[in-house]
Amino acid sequence: MDDFREWVRAQLRTRLAPRRADARTSVLGAGSDDLEAGRAYLRALEGSGLAVPSWPHEYGGIGARPEQVAVVRRELADFDVPDLYAYLVGLELVGPTLITHGRPDQCARWLPKIATGEDIWCQLFSEPAAGSDLAGLSTRATRDGDEWRVNGQKVWTSRGAYARFGLLLARHDASVPKHRGITAFGLDLHRPGVDVRPLRQMNGDAHFTEVFLDDARVDDADRIGEVGEGWRVALTCLSYERGASTAGGTSGLLDVTRLIALARERGRDDDPVIRDEIARLVIETRVMSYTAHRARDLARAGRPPGPEGSGMKIRGAALFKAYTALAARLIGADFTLDPHGDMQTLFLTAPSISIRGGTDEIQRNIVGERVLGLADEPRLDRTLPFDQLPASSAR
Ligand SMILES: Cc1cc2nc3c(=O)[nH]c(=O)nc-3n(C[C@H](O)[C@H](O)[C@H](O)COP(=O)(O)OP(=O)(O)OC[C@H]3O[C@@H](n4cnc5c(N)ncnc54)[C@H](O)[C@@H]3O)c2cc1C
Repeated sequence: MDDFREWVRAQLRTRLAPRRADARTSVLGAGSDDLEAGRAYLRALEGSGLAVPSWPHEYGGIGARPEQVAVVRRELADFDVPDLYAYLVGLELVGPTLITHGRPDQCARWLPKIATGEDIWCQLFSEPAAGSDLAGLSTRATRDGDEWRVNGQKVWTSRGAYARFGLLLARHDASVPKHRGITAFGLDLHRPGVDVRPLRQMNGDAHFTEVFLDDARVDDADRIGEVGEGWRVALTCLSYERGASTAGGTSGLLDVTRLIALARERGRDDDPVIRDEIARLVIETRVMSYTAHRARDLARAGRPPGPEGSGMKIRGAALFKAYTALAARLIGADFTLDPHGDMQTLFLTAPSISIRGGTDEIQRNIVGERVLGLADEPRLDRTLPFDQLPASSAR
C-alpha cells in the first residue's frame, strides 16, 4: 500500500497545486454556478485515473479497491480540490450506476466524458406528484421502433441548467405494479421535445430546473438496464446518493474550528451556552465520522451501501442546520450582509439537506424498518397495477 500511496502522491504533485492554508471547504455548489474550476481539475487528472479511481481502466479509472480509494481521498486532502458539485451526479451517482447496470458500449460512450468533466449529468427522477413516493412517477415512455417517445414532467432537477444528459426514469407499463413498470434511460437534454426551465433557490442557486418532456425521443440504445428494470437502477443510484451526500458532502462543511474562531472574534467564547452548543456540535460531528468510518469499512469488505447512509443523512442534515444557525447567531445582525463569505449561503442551503436525496422522514422510515426492525410502513400499492391505484387514475 505504501508504494500505491507514493505513486498517488507523485501523480497528484505533478497535476495539482498544494492545498492553501486559507482554502475554504466546498459549499455543495451553493450560490455559485462556476463550472470552470471543476472542469480544469478533472482535466488535470485525466490519464491518471485518480478522479474516479474505482472505475475500470477502460472507462477512465484505475480499478482501485475500496482501501485504495480511501488512500486517494486522503492524499487529495493535501491538494487544491475545487467544489465539484456540478459534476457530482456524473462522478458519484451515474458513473457507478452505469458500471453496475449499463452495457459496455454505454459505459464506453458515457463514462470517459463524465470523468473528464466534458459531459455533466443530472438526475431526472422527481416529479410534481412523485418525490418521496418516487416509484409513483407518471412520465410515460412509449416504444416506437428503435426509439422511445417520452412525455411528462420532472421537477427539482439540480444542475439541469448546464447538464447535457439526464438519468431518466419513466413508466413504460402502467398495467403492472408501480415498481415493475419503470425503465431507465440516458436522456440527451439537447434533443427536441426537452424543455429545461429554470427555478431559482433561496440560496441563489440558478442551476435548479423543471424539465418538460413533450414527445422527446430516446434511442433504445440509451436504455439503461432491461425494460422494467428501472427501479433497480434507481435504487442503485439512490444508495450512492445517500453515501455521497453524507460522507463526502455535508460532513466536510462542518468545520467547528471556524465556529470557535467566530465565538472568540465576537467575544462570546466564555458564554457557557455557546460553549455547550459548540461542544454538542463537536460530539455529533465525531459520532457521524465514526459512522462514516464504519460505512467505509463495510464498503471495503465489498458490501454495497446500506441503511447507515440514511442514519448519516439524518444526522448530517441536523448538524448542518445547527451549525449554520449558531454561526448566524454569533454573527448577529451583520449576518444579513454576509460579512463572513459563504456562511449566509450555507445557512440558506441548510434546510434543503433535509429534503434532497430523500427527506428526513423517509430516512427515518428506512432506519426504522431496516435497522430497528420495526413493522413495515403500510404499503397497499405493492401488488395493485399502477393504473388501478387511486392517485394514478388522476394522472
Ligand atoms: C435542493 C434540492 C435538490 C434536489 N435535486 C433533485 C434532483 O437533482 N433530481 C431529482 O429527481 N430530485 C431532486 N430533488 C427532489 C427531492 O428528491 C424531493 O424533493 C424529495 O424526494 C421529496 O419529495 P417531494 O418534494 O415531492 O415531497 P413529498 O414526497 O410530497 O413529501 C412532502 C412531505 O411529506 C413527507 N412524507 C412523504 N411520504 C412520507 C412517508 N411515507 N412517511 C413519512 N413522511 C412522508 C415528506 O418527508 C415531506 O416532509 C431535490 C430537492 C431539493 C430540495
